[in-house]
Formats: sequence, structure tokens, C-alpha cells
Amino acid sequence: MGAEKNAGKPLILEIRGNSLDDGPGIRSVVFFKGCPLSCVWCHNPEGFELKPQLMWFDVRCIGARDCLAACPKKALRLTPSGITIDRQACDACGACAEACPAGALEVVGKEYTPAGALDEVMRDEAFYRNSGGGVTVSGGEPTMQPRFVEELLRSCRESGLHTALDTCGYSSADALERLLGHADMVLLDLKLLDDERHRELTGVGVGRVLESASLVTGAGKPLWIRTPVIPGCTDSEENIGALATFIGGKLRTVERWDLLAFNNTCGAKYRRLDMSWRLEDEPLLEKSRMEALAGIARESGVKEVAWSGATRREE
Ligand code: SF4
Ligand code: SF4
Repeated sequence: MGAEKNAGKPLILEIRGNSLDDGPGIRSVVFFKGCPLSCVWCHNPEGFELKPQLMWFDVRCIGARDCLAACPKKALRLTPSGITIDRQACDACGACAEACPAGALEVVGKEYTPAGALDEVMRDEAFYRNSGGGVTVSGGEPTMQPRFVEELLRSCRESGLHTALDTCGYSSADALERLLGHADMVLLDLKLLDDERHRELTGVGVGRVLESASLVTGAGKPLWIRTPVIPGCTDSEENIGALATFIGGKLRTVERWDLLAFNNTCGAKYRRLDMSWRLEDEPLLEKSRMEALAGIARESGVKEVAWSGATRREE
């Protein structure tokens, strides 16, 4: 953990402007590729791996075949069910995406320099200044590319921008401490307190995440907690109650706690990467359930507790 795992080539998924959910004010969010967790509910499977990947969009494909001829690795085939990608052979060179007249193939994961990323976020400088916003580094998991992220956060601050680090907390203390030196605040995901369930559902234990939470609060950084509320995974009253006890008792700098209701619309993203998603047919939660869980979360004493997201009709 902590070391750059992509041979010094930082990879960014996307830089998205006009965000209202990733810290105070209007923000630009720099999404880094690569995450050490593999949460079963993840809405961004294109962020799992720290390498570029090819995605095929079935709804855009017109069967033009230009991609087949363009591929130097012969990694593409047109079958009755559409384009198939030999992912062992494909090195995500992007030649097929350039050749496709319909934009049905895209490589996700682009190399940037810190200066290039800064130039891009500075385009919205006026929005940040007028709204009390700034820049948030997110992912994937930004602490997997600490040198690049440190440089970007430092240069944002030198340009007078407010900076936020959005992390899953599964990072080395060394990397986190370095980044905290350049972040005005932290957004941290706390999903489950039970170590075994955390390991089962995210691929890693919760210990390091809790240590990160303590480190952030010990450094006096304002902290916003986010908890994805996932049916059958994190939505028990016991889990939210245990998190409330931990947050209220141990994390003195928490300013806000958001419960994010499960969203089942990302199955297509998994299919574009030839992955299956076990929550594809899971229904949304009911509004009354989210309100009840928010009530439990308020027992933490955190000043601002809110829930958001789509819900299903009550039965
Ligand atoms: S920590 Fe976030 S980005 Fe990483 S796998 Fe979990 S939900 Fe996805
Ligand atoms: S990204 Fe490159 S190697 Fe992969 S399928 Fe397209 S052309 Fe072939």
C-alpha cells in the first residue's frame, strides 16, 4: 500500500466539474483510477484497477466493424451479441476507439501531469470562489497515487483553492499523513464496523480504515463521513447503531454524516467491462427505512446527518 502501482504513471478516470455533493460549495472532483477495495455494491467498477481499460457501449454500437481492422492485437470479435474483447490480448491502446465512427469504444484511465490536472480544474475557479467550493480528489482511491495527489493538492492550495480528500480510508498512515498536510478537509467512507463482514463485502478488514479515521480526526481536520446504505450489507440497525457509537465517541471533528441510499442503475457499467454485478436485481430501499436509519445515525450527536438517493414505493 502507498507505493505507486502503475510505474509512476498516474491515471485519472475523469475530472468532473459542478459537483455539489463532494465537499462545501461548487467543486471539481478529480477521480483517480485504482482502488484497494472491491465493495460488492461499488457504483464505479471502472475505478477498480490501476490500469487503463477498454469499455464497449452496446447502445452506441452500429456494427461498423472499423474497430476490428484497427486493432493491432486482433483482440476484438463481432459476435451475434455484439463486440467481444479478448482482455488478455488487449492493452488498451485505444486504436479501436479512434476508429469507431459511433464512439462505442472508450478507454478509461488517462495519464495526466499534476500541472495538466491543475489547468483543468482552474477553469472553474470563479465558481469555487463564488460558492466557497474548491477541488476534491476522489476515486477509486486517491491515496494509491500519493506522489501525484500530493503535488496536485499542493498546487491547488498554492492557487488559493480549498482542497478536500475523499478516501475509503484503506491507506498507509504515511501516505495519508502526507496528503493531510495539503487537504483542508476529508470525506471518509465508513461502511461497516464488523471486521469479518467488512472483509467479506469489501475484500479488506476494517482496522486500517478505523485507524485512518482516528488519524484524520487527530490531525484536527474537518471530517464528513459517508455510509452507503446497501440492502443486506450495511443497512441493519445494528450496523448504523455501531457506526453511530464509534463516530460519536471517537471522531471529534466530524461535521456531517451522509447516508447514501443504494442505487441499482450501474449494471451496464459492469457489463461494459465484462463483469457481473451481484446486486443488479436488488430493489431500492424504502424511504421510511432510510428515515429510520438516519434517526439512529442522529444518536451519534453529529450536527448534520442527512440521507439522500432514490427510494422505492412503500409496500
Ligand atoms: S471503496 Fe469506493 S471505489 Fe473502492 S470499491 Fe468500494 S465503493 Fe468502489
Ligand atoms: S484498445 Fe487497442 S488492443 Fe484493445 S481492442 Fe482496442 S485496438 Fe485492440
